[in-house]
Amino acid sequence: NDEEAAAKAAALNAGSEAPTIFDKIIAKEIPSSIVYEDEKVLAFRDINPQAPVHVLIIPKFRDGLTTLAKAEARHGDILGHLLCASKIVAEKEGILDGFRVVINNGPGACQSVYHLHLHVLGGRQLKWPPG
Ligand code: IMP
Repeated sequence: NDEEAAAKAAALNAGSEAPTIFDKIIAKEIPSSIVYEDEKVLAFRDINPQAPVHVLIIPKFRDGLTTLAKAEARHGDILGHLLCASKIVAEKEGILDGFRVVINNGPGACQSVYHLHLHVLGGRQLKWPPG
């Protein structure tokens, strides 16, 4: 099932510092549906959406941030910028009154792509607690 597949994919890629598919998306070598872009971040629609709105926001320069667990003081600016971008995305998508921002960190959280990314989810009633 989907949950097992996600856990397996997460275990497979865990801890990798290799380039990811997101590098190709940033380079526009593979197409994506871009929602917002500036000099520091790119926001595009998730290929396997878990809600009517499901957008990923990534830093254009990974700078060691394969996962949030790698965050250092020098990453403060980009981390803040990513959060501000999530608000811009929510506004553009018309979900400011109900959206969720998620970062899956590591295999225990089913992280499958080792380039830091925020998930912005909304467009339906979101349940709590998440899975
Ligand atoms: P993670 O599980 O938190 O690492 O999230 C990775 C996300 O990237 C998943 O929700 C995938 O559906 C998504 N994803 C993987 N490849 C692509 C792609 O080529 N385009 C858009 N989204 C992708």
